[in-house]
Amino acid sequence: MKCFIQNIEKRDIQFVIENITQCGGNCSGCALSSSERMNNESYSLNKLLYNLSLFHQYIESLDSIESVSLFLGQGDHFLLSDIDLEEMVIHICESFKNKNIKDKTVIFLTASAIGKHQDIVRKMDLIYKIAKNYQTTMFIQVVFDPKKYQSHNIDFRKTYLENILYFKKTCGMAELTINIGEDFIAYLSPLDFHQLMIDNQINHVEINWVLNKNTLEMWKKHHLKMYDWLYEFICLNINEHQYEINFLPFLERAFKKMDIEGIDMIHLLGPMLQNHVYLNQNSTYSFGLPGLFSNFTLMKERSNDLIFFKNHQIKLSETETLSKKIYQKMMKNKDCITCSFKNTCIMIGSHQWNHFVGNFDCHWSLQQFLNKIYELNQKNNFNTKFNVNPYTKGISLKNNQDYQYFKNQFLDNK
Ligand code: SF4
Repeated sequence: MKCFIQNIEKRDIQFVIENITQCGGNCSGCALSSSERMNNESYSLNKLLYNLSLFHQYIESLDSIESVSLFLGQGDHFLLSDIDLEEMVIHICESFKNKNIKDKTVIFLTASAIGKHQDIVRKMDLIYKIAKNYQTTMFIQVVFDPKKYQSHNIDFRKTYLENILYFKKTCGMAELTINIGEDFIAYLSPLDFHQLMIDNQINHVEINWVLNKNTLEMWKKHHLKMYDWLYEFICLNINEHQYEINFLPFLERAFKKMDIEGIDMIHLLGPMLQNHVYLNQNSTYSFGLPGLFSNFTLMKERSNDLIFFKNHQIKLSETETLSKKIYQKMMKNKDCITCSFKNTCIMIGSHQWNHFVGNFDCHWSLQQFLNKIYELNQKNNFNTKFNVNPYTKGISLKNNQDYQYFKNQFLDNK
């Protein structure tokens, strides 16, 4: 354990609490099953309170925290009644009794922007008023459904965009989340999506490529098309860098550490796992890694893999065993042993993909895709803007600057 701690400089924590699964969308790349999305009783205040207590207990047990991002997902919080929403937001804000932790935490609530404009405005205003009253930063993470957007008429599109832009106006920023899948490729070209980002001055896109038992069959057919789509999209943004694409900074950092091997890599993985925790609705938790086409690659969720914990306390010590397992798993793959990206892949949770796709070769030609991104980066002498956040203009997280940025946007923008 000691050696893990020695590796920690400052912790940038990402903590997900699965709080609601109900959602009116049906993105083909969604992590949730259709029955979870249709479950209109998926939210429970008691479960949330318990999970918040686990979150605080865990965070307060850690040293050297630089920033905390608390995500409450994954369905549509705007489907809650005003009374439930108000009660929930008050409880979340009141749970931050430790000012030191509160002043490092940015909270994101997932929501779809589908709905009547007056309802969106009312609920957004309700959240903003309470959060501001408690001096707590709370943003809406908008899940964008391209199929709904492109297949409906002009009035629907106008309202959809107005709703997203209202989040942006109120919160000071908008973070657009897309769960990519076959519908994304079919309904929106890279250029159209790029243009949508520019036209609406959205400067952060959260791309999630979820591989779990709900999405495996789809990805067997469409992964190559998706690589092409992503590559074209990245190239459109690379020169001007007008918005951040979430997974590129993680990939960039993993490229930079690709020479770390063996026991040093295992020691590096420990803190990375500790900094990524997913707590599902029945309070079982999974550690995660940042990276491969998402900023959170789970070690277990919705698979039948081995690493999944149920406990009354999130145990740091489990990450030591888990790091070794991850390393050993990758080293058993005959293609990985000789691959120059093997250490990159370990850091971005690729073994989880291998688990789904089959253990004996490079899953779905990932190596070729990584190679193309690596070359893009190399052309610029590793000075691409992959690792620069266009909000803060910062390359690394220092002096709590992410929190300060968000605080300025959210609490001080009115
Ligand atoms: S790119 Fe493929 S072969 Fe290389 S380490 Fe990753 S999964 Fe293994």
